[in-house]
Amino acid sequence: MEWWVSIPKVELHAHLNGSIRDSTLLELAKALGDKGLIDFSQVEHVILKNDRSLTEVFKLFDVIHILTTDHTSVKRIAKEVVEDFASENVVYLELRTTPKKNDSLGMSKRSYIEAVLEGLRAVSSVDVAFTPYSEELTSLSNPVLSVTNDICNGSMRKKIFVRLLLSIDRRETAEAAMETVMLALEMRSFGVVGIDLSGNPAVGEWITYLQALRFAREQGLYVTLHCGEVPNSKEIHDMLDFLPHRIGHACFFDEEHWIKLKSSNIPVELCLTSNFRTLSVPSIDAHHFGDLYQAKHPVVLCTDDSGVFSTSLSNEYKIAAASFGLGRKEMFELAKNAVEFIFADILVKEDLRRNFNLAAKNLEL
Ligand code: 5GP
Repeated sequence: MEWWVSIPKVELHAHLNGSIRDSTLLELAKALGDKGLIDFSQVEHVILKNDRSLTEVFKLFDVIHILTTDHTSVKRIAKEVVEDFASENVVYLELRTTPKKNDSLGMSKRSYIEAVLEGLRAVSSVDVAFTPYSEELTSLSNPVLSVTNDICNGSMRKKIFVRLLLSIDRRETAEAAMETVMLALEMRSFGVVGIDLSGNPAVGEWITYLQALRFAREQGLYVTLHCGEVPNSKEIHDMLDFLPHRIGHACFFDEEHWIKLKSSNIPVELCLTSNFRTLSVPSIDAHHFGDLYQAKHPVVLCTDDSGVFSTSLSNEYKIAAASFGLGRKEMFELAKNAVEFIFADILVKEDLRRNFNLAAKNLEL
């Protein structure tokens, strides 16, 4: 495991509330239980259950959201999630989350994202670079100036780039989706780079969000779509025709979908453990990663929900290497290649490329 942790990695598909630590989730549940607001024994059972279908995963998210949707918890979770990814040498993280409104807590979609940003600012174990690169270079209040490791008081400090994607949940209305896009536009100078469409794929119609997604793209935001998590041929075709900047999952594709995907060259965010645990693929060996990798289609290994599925990005690399017979050099190249599909600007890309080249030398690859 040590080697997989040691290589630099890029995470492009991580849901904030899905990446929550088990210990934090249980602590928040216990606190609400002590206040008599929930029945802790019932919730504990749901949290600790190991195997879940996709439908059960979404039931768990409903429970998680009851426990986590207040400003203090959102800030804490964002801080911990970034610390956890940084501790396993993730050097660039695109974190996605659904902005939530809760009038009784005085929470607006904007204040929810502000709490996430506070979480990023509260990280102390590593330097977090989340504003656009040009602003980082000029900002006096942000000392993050150099490449992936910063020299601070003579010693090297680790650095992680973080960018945010705002998610539209498939339960939302078209108006609510547009509100999220407008918020993303407003918060571009705080590291928001794009929009994700996620939420239970058995619910709603993606077409509801087409106008908001089109507008987002026209305004220069990046767009990634959860695509093909359930068999829905027409939706998959329509999503691919939209030409998003990336898609996630692609589990229930048929021959025609693969042809369309491959000719479009849309990069795919692949989450092996998540897809296996939700029974979206029969086994890891049978995962479409193998075929896409062989076909040299752009793919990126990701965790999806490291907390919910008890995994880590290092673990996903280890599993992929073992399941598909890939060596360290090939896996390192796969990690490095992910830099080409990030939604950040060219300067960040250049910085990351330098970092990977340096790491390759150090690891004698
Ligand atoms: P949040 O947006 O609250 O930070 O993260 C949890 C949310 O992400 C879930 O409620 C769901 O909308 C979305 N999500 C997490 N994992 C998955 C997944 O595997 N598939 C889909 N479609 N959505 C997911």
